[in-house]
Amino acid sequence: MVCAGAGARAAATLVWSLKLMTKNDQIGFATRAIHVGQEPDAETGAVSPPIHPTSTYVQQELGKNKGYEYARTSNPTRTRLEQNLAALEGGIAAPVFASGMAAINAICTMYKSGDHIVCGHNLYGGVPRLFNQVLVDFGLEFTYVDTSEPRNVERAIRKNTRMVYVETPTNPLMVLSDIAAISRVCRQKKVELVVDNTFMSPYFQQPIALGADMVVHSTTKFLNGHSDGLGGVVVCTRRDQVEKLKFIQKCAGAILSPFECWLVLRGVKTLAVRMEQHDRNGRFVADFLARHKKVKKVFYPGLPEHPQYELAQRQMGGFGAMITFETGSLSNAKKLLKRVRVCSLGESLGGVETLISHPATMTHAALGEKGRRAIGITDGMVRISVGIENVEDIIRDLDDALSAI
Ligand SMILES: *Cc1c(COP(=O)(O)O)cnc(C)c1O
Repeated sequence: MVCAGAGARAAATLVWSLKLMTKNDQIGFATRAIHVGQEPDAETGAVSPPIHPTSTYVQQELGKNKGYEYARTSNPTRTRLEQNLAALEGGIAAPVFASGMAAINAICTMYKSGDHIVCGHNLYGGVPRLFNQVLVDFGLEFTYVDTSEPRNVERAIRKNTRMVYVETPTNPLMVLSDIAAISRVCRQKKVELVVDNTFMSPYFQQPIALGADMVVHSTTKFLNGHSDGLGGVVVCTRRDQVEKLKFIQKCAGAILSPFECWLVLRGVKTLAVRMEQHDRNGRFVADFLARHKKVKKVFYPGLPEHPQYELAQRQMGGFGAMITFETGSLSNAKKLLKRVRVCSLGESLGGVETLISHPATMTHAALGEKGRRAIGITDGMVRISVGIENVEDIIRDLDDALSAI
């Protein structure tokens, strides 16, 4: 882009060949994560992609530029991240936004007043807040159903339904929805299926291959993986979606900064090894909790007693790091959370460090007691995002904390 020397040509050839290979699915996930959009700098050969902190771009003459005019519309560091994430999810483009919520809001602004959206009844807390307290005032209509049963989705679809919005697995109950089955319903009814793939990451779950029309992520979580920046992405499968979302980026401006794009580009290079370790640790911790006599119940799709274990094996390449367990009461949960030392008490998930939280008073407080009871969230539940520390240390920490109960 900057200089047309041999380096630039080599980089361009690499991009091109990687894109071709990605299309033909001949290139592995980890290789795509490390190389697509991560090509060395054409000017200097720097292995790490440059960050372009610029608001504008000098133009050669009137009507002639190098493909960039103003940084709200586009930025080279952002272009790299968008290419990378599209390649990881198997989409054609992946506009990125300032946060997961900004990405979800951008999707909703693709629709108009009078349009109806069917969504899961146990979504990430910020999503129903956006839908019920902001977007309803602009004439969008929402119906919440238990999407773990595809028939519920089919029944809720009306003449004005434009989108089905699904999160799988759900937070914190780890309930799965059958993406392929719901996508068949959506195809037949000509409704778009959008899947929030934040919990599994593209390493363990590929919603587009299962029939989703768009995939959304909070890159804040596993994609970045280091708990050092917010971000969101919408992976698209059709040209018209890309054009609309690029236009929304430019018009509404909730874009991701070049530095934050770079953080995700850097984080995503280790996504494959991180997810493998998250998954391995997750299985050990779930197994430990399932056998502990002070733990009443464990919610983890990798346990054979999970009611959707079969679907989990079919739909996901691993079971991931998210585990919820029942301690029996608020006071038990409090005692445990006060005692942990390796596990850090905090919201969020998907970082290298183990985070532990209390859904009823933290992430799901806004639902109210009645709302929580309706979907099965109790005061004794504790959620863990298992990190990639030595698993013995995480288990020893939990064992010690459980002894406080
Ligand atoms: C965190 C999260 C979001 C929101 O993302 P932000 O980056 O915090 O705005 C949406 N969906 C899921 C599943 C999440 O975990």
